[in-house]
Amino acid sequence: MNAVFSSHPLESRRARLRAELDQRRLSLFVVTDPLNVFYLTGFRGSAGVAVLGPSDAVLWVDPRYTLQAQKDAQNVEVVEERGALLKAVARWLRKRKPRRVGFEGDHLTCSGFRTLEREGHDLLRFESTSGLVEELRSVKDAGEIALIRQASRVTVEAFEETVRGIRPGVTECDLAAEIEHRMRQKGAEGAAFETIVASGHRSAYPHARASSKVLGESELVIFDLGAILAGYAADMTRTVYLGRPSGRMVKLYRAVREAQQRAVEALWPGVKGCEVDSAARRALERRGLAQYFTHSTGHGVGLNIHEKPRLARTERKRLKAGSVVTAEPGVYLEGLGGVRLEDTVLVGEDGPEVLTPSPMDRWIIS
Ligand code: ZN
Ligand code: ZN
Repeated sequence: MNAVFSSHPLESRRARLRAELDQRRLSLFVVTDPLNVFYLTGFRGSAGVAVLGPSDAVLWVDPRYTLQAQKDAQNVEVVEERGALLKAVARWLRKRKPRRVGFEGDHLTCSGFRTLEREGHDLLRFESTSGLVEELRSVKDAGEIALIRQASRVTVEAFEETVRGIRPGVTECDLAAEIEHRMRQKGAEGAAFETIVASGHRSAYPHARASSKVLGESELVIFDLGAILAGYAADMTRTVYLGRPSGRMVKLYRAVREAQQRAVEALWPGVKGCEVDSAARRALERRGLAQYFTHSTGHGVGLNIHEKPRLARTERKRLKAGSVVTAEPGVYLEGLGGVRLEDTVLVGEDGPEVLTPSPMDRWIIS
């Protein structure tokens, strides 16, 4: 991990954070979300609190994590704390006497906040913030892009090797397990989320999990999968058909494929999230299928499987170069089944780059 996160990217992330704190007139910032702690310090554990500011970078961990934190956190003072971490943080803050202390309103629990306030003895002024580090995370640096690229490659390979052996008679769970096993064999930590394999009537449920259902003849099968590697996720969906599809089924597949391509083509810096969404939606509208597209077009991918930016009808924010997002339109018809196609895509300076380029034209398996 140290090889990937040379001190340079962490320093530049903290510099970007400091600029944000400056703008908000915050003298120090308490980070409690484990992914944000990882992003800003290099330490990846289930518990830990970091305080960052113009000249401070301190990380509190419990004894389980001391060695790991000392090894992974870079240019950060590591403090081992046997008691409650936030109490120790508040005691430290009291001595520093900062003007205003920001905290992560989306992640700090109510009781955590009360601990900070109580231990602060009315000497400290706390300000809630929302999505501050998540906004920084929405633009990836070169190291992050390299890891998502690697996770994407593992995802594509695990899918392609598994789908080769697909036949009626296997269960959805068998296929999901095979995919996850292959991901690990290829160097992933595992699946970034529970692998979805949904066949036949179950493919019409956008959030179906893999079940003990046996794959039958003449069925659509949706695979939604993603590897996680060194903390970074990929996300890809492919739909295949077992047997010989009807003309209606072929039309359905082609319509989703076109919608997905329109969404990918729209992924340029400066484009609004809602414009990408409507590029996909319009393609389905032309085929009279828009009402069956019941979710948004995409989401950011990184340390989290769903993060900023959002590609939804209501999203007015413009994409920035360096964001990594999914493009994943789908249509779901009760009784017939569903088709969803999804890629992880880098929003590059010179346009979109699909990181999960598994061909979509070999979808009929007979
Ligand atoms: Zn997905
Ligand atoms: Zn997704």
